[in-house]
Amino acid sequence: MIQLTFLGSGGARVMLASQLLATGGLWFDLDGTRISLDPGPGALVHAKKKKLNPTSLDAIMLSHRHLDHCGDVNAMIEAMTQGGIRKKGTVYAPHDALEEDPVVLHYLRPYVDEIIRLEERQTYRLGDLTFATSMRHHHGAVETYGFNFMLAGHTVSYIPDTAYFPELANFYRGDILVISVLLLESNVRIPHLAVPEAREIIAAVKPQTAILTHFGLHVWQARPWEIAARLQEDTGIKVIAARDGMTFTVAE
Ligand SMILES: [Zn+2]
Repeated sequence: MIQLTFLGSGGARVMLASQLLATGGLWFDLDGTRISLDPGPGALVHAKKKKLNPTSLDAIMLSHRHLDHCGDVNAMIEAMTQGGIRKKGTVYAPHDALEEDPVVLHYLRPYVDEIIRLEERQTYRLGDLTFATSMRHHHGAVETYGFNFMLAGHTVSYIPDTAYFPELANFYRGDILVISVLLLESNVRIPHLAVPEAREIIAAVKPQTAILTHFGLHVWQARPWEIAARLQEDTGIKVIAARDGMTFTVAE
C-alpha cells in the first residue's frame, strides 16, 4: 500500500513565516517503508496530529537544506529514536546539508544508524525500497535532488524546488507524481516551478495522478484546487491539489 500524507501544502518564506498553510513537508509510507521527507517547520506536530508514529520511521530524507524543507529534521531524529534511546533509521541529505553550515545537528548524529550523503543520479536501497536521485536541480547555490521511489507496482516521484529545465521530464517517471509548484507565473529571478511549467512536466511524464503541493502565497490565493482542475482539463491527466493533512492512498 502507498500512503502519501501532506504534513503541509505550503512552501517558501511567506508561508513558513505566516503558517497560512502548514509547512511540515511529506510523510510517505511506501509498501511499509516509512519516510519523513523534507520535514519543514511543523512536521513533527502535524505528524502527531495525524496519529503518525515517528518511532515507526525508517528514514528521514532531505531534498535540500532550505529551512522549509529541513526545519524539523532534528526534532524528527529525536522523535524517531525516542530521544536517542533507541538508535535507528537513516538520514539522507545532500553534502551541503551536512557540512559547513549543517542543518543536521552533530550531537544528534549518533542517534541514527546511518547518515548517507546524497549524490546526483544514484540508486539507493532502504530495506525493501529502492530509490534514485535525480540530476542536480537548478535551485541557486543549494544542492537539491528529487527522487523516484521504485515499488513493485508503482513508481512515486517527488519533484522538490527547482527552476524549470526540460530534462526534468526525462528523469521523473512516476505514475504518481508529486510536484512542488511555488509560483503562479515563472520568474527568472526565482528558481522555482510555476503552474505553466508544472503543466508541461505533467503532459510530458503522463502519470496516472499528479499531486501539486508546496504552494507559495500567490498560488494559494489563486485556489490550488481550481488550478489543479484546469491542469486536469488541459492535460487529460488526473491532477490533485494537496491540502494540509491530506492523505493520498493507493491500495494494492
Ligand atoms: Zn528551496
